[in-house]
Parts: sequence; C-alpha cells; structure tokens
Amino acid sequence: MHPIYLDNSATTPLLPPVWEAMQPFACGAFGNAASAHARGREARKALEDAREKIAGFLDAHADEVLFTSGATEANNTAIFGLAGTPPAQIVTGPIEHPSVAEPIAQLARRGFSIATLVVDSRGVIDPNSSPTAAGDPTPARLCCVQLVNHETGARQPIAALAQLAGSQVYFHTDAAAAAGKVPLRFHALNVTSLSLSAHKFHGPAGIGALLLRRGTSLAPLLFGGHQQQGRRPGTEPVALAVGMARALEIAVEQQQSTLDHVQKLRERFLEILHASCAPVVVNGPECAPAEVLPHTLNVSFPGCRADALLMNLDLAGIACSTGSACSSGSLLPSPVLQAMHVAEEVLRSAMRFSFSHLLSEHEIEEAARRIADVVGGLRGLPFERPDT
Ligand code: PMP
Repeated sequence: MHPIYLDNSATTPLLPPVWEAMQPFACGAFGNAASAHARGREARKALEDAREKIAGFLDAHADEVLFTSGATEANNTAIFGLAGTPPAQIVTGPIEHPSVAEPIAQLARRGFSIATLVVDSRGVIDPNSSPTAAGDPTPARLCCVQLVNHETGARQPIAALAQLAGSQVYFHTDAAAAAGKVPLRFHALNVTSLSLSAHKFHGPAGIGALLLRRGTSLAPLLFGGHQQQGRRPGTEPVALAVGMARALEIAVEQQQSTLDHVQKLRERFLEILHASCAPVVVNGPECAPAEVLPHTLNVSFPGCRADALLMNLDLAGIACSTGSACSSGSLLPSPVLQAMHVAEEVLRSAMRFSFSHLLSEHEIEEAARRIADVVGGLRGLPFERPDT
C-alpha cells in the first residue's frame, strides 16, 4: 500500500537541493568556523552567508540571527533570557507549544506571576480580551504568544498584541509553525524575538534560530564559549546552517504556489471527509486563509477514539497525529482543544492532518477515502466513553 505522509507539522523531509548544499560542508569543506586557518575561514564564510540569507528572508539584520539547535532551544533561550528576576508578570497564550508553556510554568515556580490570554472557540486570541490575573498589579515584563498554532493552524494577531503590550514589555513569538509557510517580516511584527526551526520547512533537524532585536540584552542559557557573542556558545553547525538557509530560500521562492496548492488540497480533503464520514468537526478556523494556515488541519470524528483512529490509520498507510508531535502517543487530551472548550466527544476524537507541497491531489483523495473507511469501521463498534 502506498504510504501517505500527512504529518508535516511534526517534521518534513529534507529536499534534495538542501542536502546538496549541505554536503560539501559536512565532508570536503568541513571546518570549525572559529579556526584561524583557511578551512576555518571557509566555514566561517559559509556560516555568515547563511546567517545573512536567513536574515534577508525574514526582514531582519544578520546580527539579529542566533543559531540554536531548534525552536525548543530558541523558545527557552528567549523566555529565560528575557524574563529577568521576579517579581514580574509573564503574559502568555493558553495554546502555546510545550517548549513555551513549560519554561513559563518553570518561571511560575520561580516566583513570576503568569497571566494567560483567552482564545475563542476557533482557537484565536482576541487582543482585547482580559487575561487571567488581569487585576494583578505586578508589571508585565515579557509576553509570549505563538504566531500560528501547531495543532489547528490558527493564526494569531501578533502585531496587534505586540502593539498593545507596548514598548516596555518584551514580546517573544514562536514562529515554528509559520516560518517558511507565510511571509514573515521580523521588524514589522514589532516583536523582540522570534523562533523558528529548519525541519519544519524541509531543512535539517537539529538547527533553528532565535531572531533577537538589536540592542536587546539577553541572559544566555549556556556558558562555555565565545561563539555568537557568547549569547549562544558552542561550535556552530555549519552544514546545518547552510541547509537551513537553502531550505528557507526554496520555501520563500515557492511560498505563494505552495500556499495555493496546499489550500486546494485542504479544501478537497475536507470536501471528501464531509461527504463520506459525516459528522466531521473542524477544530479551528475552517478554511479562510487569513485566519488559518492551510498546512495544518485538525478534525474530529465523533464516535471514534483518537488513539484507535491513529493506530488504524497507521495500518492503512496514513501517517498523522493526535496532536502535537511531542504529545502524540499519549492519551492525554490536547490542551489546545481544551482551551477552545470543544465538546468532550470532539476532544476525544481529534486528529491532526498536515500537508506539504510534495503531496498530490490524488494522494489527498486516496488518503481521505482510506480515512473514511477506517472511521466507518470504528463507528460500527460500540464507543466506550473514557472515565477521565
Ligand atoms: N514550537 C512549535 C509551534 C512547534 O510545532 C515545534 C515542533 N513540534 C516546536 C516549537 C519545537 O521545535 P523543535 O523541534 O525545533 O525543537
């Protein structure tokens, strides 16, 4: 059976031209970018070229790009590096990725007060809603809100939120689910920092970046080297940085055609699901491109259990997820859908399908048909309501 990969929000395959760009720096032209000899200088040049290219695609300055091991590290670096010491308030969204939510929970244990913004039933933050702890007089120091949700694709009004937060408050946005997929202009977003991860846009796993506004002082997470002005010490992974820059270049070049293609795939996929396995509930904004990134689609199949669906879809050759990759495999309900107050049956039957430009319409139709078969089969079985 032809396997169909619908888990591109978890990770994406490396594109051959990305691998080709990386290879010389992993093999023949290897070198430590800190070495003074010719090999080192060549590595340094490739690294700085990659930094400059990435900055250019994101409308940032090259000295605002810090390479990290991925978005998890970039988020941790921003949150711990900007929070300072208590007392202070951290403002955040209720549907952040664990690599943001857990560092903030850690800050709460260290004495920071946390105010959480509210999402509507589509999983979108209303910039004018009052956060929890709205009466708390502790001044806010840092606000962390993602640009696009990793489970539903919902786009968040970051520029409006950053403006409301004001210039006295640091603003960090996790753009791992958005980078490469939609045009991103770092300075126009009005944020202090932004994180991204190469393996989400067909680059290599193990590298990401934190964009940090010029002049922002950052307490480093790591110590032990002078690389990247000591703000993120450690030997820079030159081949990975070259791969990340090339992957972003390709993603940006193809952005509009990919968006159009993926939007069509999403619409066709949903059309078949609605016709062949109703009731189907879309969690998040259904289709409007201004509100949702078409790459990620979260749907519930009331009457089915998500864990049973995941297993049976895997047997049917469909790779997908019950939520974010970090919590797939666990049976805990998604905190994202919980914050959206979806009904219990919707919560327990939610699946995430995520698309890429590599998928054809034929594959999407085939996938939707296989899903309809599996859902039909599972709905024929008695549905056991879990106790918890
Ligand atoms: N933020 C979001 C929104 C993500 O989807 C992910 C990946 N699951 C991360 C952060 C973590 O990225 P990385 O895998 O590069 O650590």
